[in-house]
Amino acid sequence: MSTGRPTPELEATIGGLSRRLAEARAAGRTVGFVPTMGFLHAGHCSLVERARVDNDVVVVSIFVNPLQFNPGEDFDDYPRDLDRDLEMCARAGADIVFVPDGPEMYPEPVATTVRLPALADVLCGASRAGHFDGVATVVAKLLVIVGECSAYFGEKDFQQLTIVTRMAADLSLPVRVVGCGTVREPDGLALSSRNAYLSEAERSQAPVLLRALEAGAALVQSGEADPAAVEAEMASVIATAPLAEIDYAAAASASTLTADGPLRGDVRLLVAVRFGKARLIDNIGCRAG
Ligand code: AMP
Repeated sequence: MSTGRPTPELEATIGGLSRRLAEARAAGRTVGFVPTMGFLHAGHCSLVERARVDNDVVVVSIFVNPLQFNPGEDFDDYPRDLDRDLEMCARAGADIVFVPDGPEMYPEPVATTVRLPALADVLCGASRAGHFDGVATVVAKLLVIVGECSAYFGEKDFQQLTIVTRMAADLSLPVRVVGCGTVREPDGLALSSRNAYLSEAERSQAPVLLRALEAGAALVQSGEADPAAVEAEMASVIATAPLAEIDYAAAASASTLTADGPLRGDVRLLVAVRFGKARLIDNIGCRAG
């Protein structure tokens, strides 16, 4: 079916992408950038659509970044479907899809790591050691390649959004980082490429993540300021799903991602839960007293 939009141009080289975008900026055009690992869904598309509204040129990158996977994680099995991704990029309004291969991005083993320990070693970073070093390093590299732009990231990966926002500020990157809301299935499950791993039984129990977060938020809004009490509430909801194996349920300051005392101001509730092979994450925001 025709989308009425031209097929995006594929660009596989760093030099080619930089040149095109330098030309666009020289012509006074603004650039919107959406980094992804592909296997796109409506959550990714919402970022592309937002970039389309805000900018003259929209670039989507598709690169499954080996640096952010630990040995034994799902790098080899990570779902990939470039043809389908390109159709979705076209429909959402992308102009250029950047598809570097591994050697293009990392011709040599990387000797440089971008690391934000205070934000990277908590929550998902505690069970996925080095994961956010890999994320920050590839995002820094992509942002240098793309240059001055607005870059769109999902709140679905709130820790990643926080890290990228801080990194861009610390390094004075010429980038406006834009956080976008989480797109969900009708039953509340956040869209994720990894939902493809869920069996039917696991899929039917996966909405427990949002139910746990909502129970935690209700407790905070009722005046509970003790993070441990909120975390216990969320864990007890997750425990009602027999196939769920909890990694963490956390109540934290939205800016530091830690809770060093009673909850105050902008709070983020975050959970990570394994269902078989799939490790799912979700989060919501709320206000405390
Ligand atoms: P990924 O391909 O998983 O690296 O995700 C690429 C971008 O899409 C990241 O900024 C994610 O936060 C964002 N994203 C993933 N899932 C969703 C979702 N359900 N809603 C909104 N954004 C999402």
